[in-house]
Amino acid sequence: MKLLPSNLPICQPAQVAIIGAGNVGSALAQRIAEKNMADVVLLDMAAGRPQGIALDLVEASGLEGHDRTLRGTADYADTAGSDIVVITAGFPRKPGMSRDDLLRVNGEIVIQATQKAIAHSPNAIIIVVTNPLDVMTYLAWKSSGLAPQRVMGMAGILDSSRFQTFIALELGVSSADVDAMVLGGHGDLMVPLPRYSTVNGIPITELLDLATIERLVERTRNGGAEIVELLQTGGAYYAPASSICVMVETILRNRSRLLPIAAYLEGQYNLHDVFIGVPARLACRGIESILELELSDRELEALHRSAASVRENVEEALKLL
Ligand code: NAD
Repeated sequence: MKLLPSNLPICQPAQVAIIGAGNVGSALAQRIAEKNMADVVLLDMAAGRPQGIALDLVEASGLEGHDRTLRGTADYADTAGSDIVVITAGFPRKPGMSRDDLLRVNGEIVIQATQKAIAHSPNAIIIVVTNPLDVMTYLAWKSSGLAPQRVMGMAGILDSSRFQTFIALELGVSSADVDAMVLGGHGDLMVPLPRYSTVNGIPITELLDLATIERLVERTRNGGAEIVELLQTGGAYYAPASSICVMVETILRNRSRLLPIAAYLEGQYNLHDVFIGVPARLACRGIESILELELSDRELEALHRSAASVRENVEEALKLL
């Protein structure tokens, strides 16, 4: 069959630029492509890698039934006009490293990536993934010049998904029936909230004893390190890619979802000038509002401790600007 040239106006599909075509970036490109959600431009400084990943994914398009454009590049000009820029460029942890150990090396990469990407896509929303997450999100915001509602970090969805998984495994129920909530920084001081974690509406505090809950909370806090130890080279990427994809889809489809996101706080939870994981309403223009949950004294103290540790690292990271 020969298709005739069309004279209909060209529809402009959404475009997502993924800076960093490593494990997380390429898994995210696959998720977006297979959901037919947007065109994807993968950018990486490693010669040939983004082009190779993009071509490999395109060659699966007939089999997977996706028809969006996938391109790989080392040139930021090719990312021009992106609706969303996802920053995954940087180094993952090695066994024994904390996320904070990555501060300086990844800080420089994130500043440069943000400035170059936003120069070509001034209307984009930025989702930061590079660790240490909350600090990198602050740096990206500072170097982007964007309103804070348009810059956010992905961590809470992943941490909550890990908690959800461990609860489901413990109870022997489908994870589809479990809702879990983790706030705070994406680090050892993250704040899983058992009171707000439920199985079909039943708080897990009614279903599990305190010692078991504490064990699941601890496993959630160490969820990333557990995978780093198993893999020995690199960190998790399948669940991270799924988590980023939830945010991308929420923005592109304007779904107005309430999700745990590293968002800029200006007094909420009595915290100021810091990006940290809180429940936020996300839609096509970015973060629309932040939900201030009723927290116990202990939970609030844990959130403040987590924020204090993030702020300390932000002070250090700002020297890179
Ligand atoms: P990876 O090493 O597989 O990929 C990183 C990629 O970044 C590499 O391909 C590298 O060439 C590229 N890169 C480095 N410097 C660059 C630059 N200046 N410009 C463009 N590209 C550059 O690592 P990964 O597993 O994909 O993880 C990426 C980052 O995401 C790490 O910092 C990791 O800790 C973080 N991460 C965060 C979460 C989260 O929940 N926020 C989850 C998983 C991973």
